[in-house]
Amino acid sequence: MRRNRKAKIVATLGPASGDLETITALFEAGVDMFRFNFSHGSHEDHRGRHQIVRSLEEKYGRPVAILADLQGPKIRLGTFNGDSTMLVAGEQFVLDRDETPGDATRVYLPHPELFAAVGAGQTLLLDDGKIRLSVESNKDNRIVTKVAVGGKISNRKGVNVPDAILPIPAMTAKDLVDLEFALSLGVDWVALSFVQQVSDIEDARKIIGDRALIQSKIEKPAAMIDIDGICKASDSVMVARGDLGVELPISQVPRAQKEIIRAARKYGRPTIVATHMLESMTESPMPTRAEASDVANAIYEGADAVMLSAESASGKNPVRAVQMMDSIIKEVEADPTYRTLLDAQQVAPLPTPEDAIVTALRDVTTVVNAAGIVTYTKSGHTSMFGARVRPNASILSITPDIKIARRLAWVWGIHSIVGKDVTSVDEMVQVAVSSAMREGFAKVGEYLTITAGLPFGESGTTNLLHIATVK
Ligand code: PGA
Ligand code: MN
Repeated sequence: MRRNRKAKIVATLGPASGDLETITALFEAGVDMFRFNFSHGSHEDHRGRHQIVRSLEEKYGRPVAILADLQGPKIRLGTFNGDSTMLVAGEQFVLDRDETPGDATRVYLPHPELFAAVGAGQTLLLDDGKIRLSVESNKDNRIVTKVAVGGKISNRKGVNVPDAILPIPAMTAKDLVDLEFALSLGVDWVALSFVQQVSDIEDARKIIGDRALIQSKIEKPAAMIDIDGICKASDSVMVARGDLGVELPISQVPRAQKEIIRAARKYGRPTIVATHMLESMTESPMPTRAEASDVANAIYEGADAVMLSAESASGKNPVRAVQMMDSIIKEVEADPTYRTLLDAQQVAPLPTPEDAIVTALRDVTTVVNAAGIVTYTKSGHTSMFGARVRPNASILSITPDIKIARRLAWVWGIHSIVGKDVTSVDEMVQVAVSSAMREGFAKVGEYLTITAGLPFGESGTTNLLHIATVK
């Protein structure tokens, strides 16, 4: 099963997409990685979805990536009587420690840290900034506010406090429990929310080890200050525009998106652009013109993947949203300017053998007009670095390890398969050629460019570049 595009699609699963039929339709429509959002749903929900995704993988013979997105220290409200209420501008609204469901005058705030950190004159933003509260006083476990911008508010919506630094660790007790559960299922990637500094990633890696790769969600202004360091320390990054657009002035978000993608490319880290991409499709069968443009622009900027959140998790048109992304990506990739832009964004190679090889790989692939690239990879590194140079041909990534194959499933340009370990150059060429023909990459008489590391079976040794003719 080939996707006829290089950029990839990530879809969040949720109540609108938890059943076998919908997940199958999403996969067939083009999803390369499924996101399990641990801010919502029970472990049993995630376990069920995990089983379905793995059964599809089996059925279609194609590795699929799963991303476990940890909630992180996201502040959320409690619940409301009747699940929602209207906040009216000018009225008073109190956040307190009373666990009973709230109403238009008050709500439970289950975060004691906030009662220690918030002060009069500060702003609290609810539901991705749609509602604004001005803090009037904070004493006796009651934050009294005046509604500056009102609107409808429902259960467990997010709270952002852009004016205060909150004394909250990067991984909460809930995250640690969710993380062990996700790793026990065998997820491929773990996303860390609200990363602020390199040590957040290092701390997580001590726990995760090599059980999964780490994706840093860039959604705090603090993370932008050391974006290079954070990209380097992470295995991939997400431009998490939902919270980033609340914490930063929204006018700065497009520029931040471009900066994040550039920094990630520098270190060969794949990037997802996320949130509100086709937001109106949660209700409507068609996106707005601006949304279609947004998806296209993320692709033009060189992102590896674009992501659906509510559109696929709780919207009315999950499958249509994937189909829409799929067709927008294909249109961009058919535009010769896309290639020109990717080439213009090419970063200077690092002085390492693997960068030398992948730089040569890109040039050789173009010069001989190779039908495909074959990368042999033990750790996934060679394939990821091959993708970083954005070569002209698609990459057929071969690894003996299904876990590695899954991790690569959402990386730009990579068609990831499991193949047997090779022990000689002759065998490498033979397996590359037969796999490329079987997967529809090349026909008799065409060229393939092949890269691997000698000695075979060791990781971190990308040092071999070979041109093969398909016979
Ligand atoms: P979230 O992260 O959906 O978990 O909040 C993405 C974002 O903030 O954009
Ligand atoms: Mn977020």
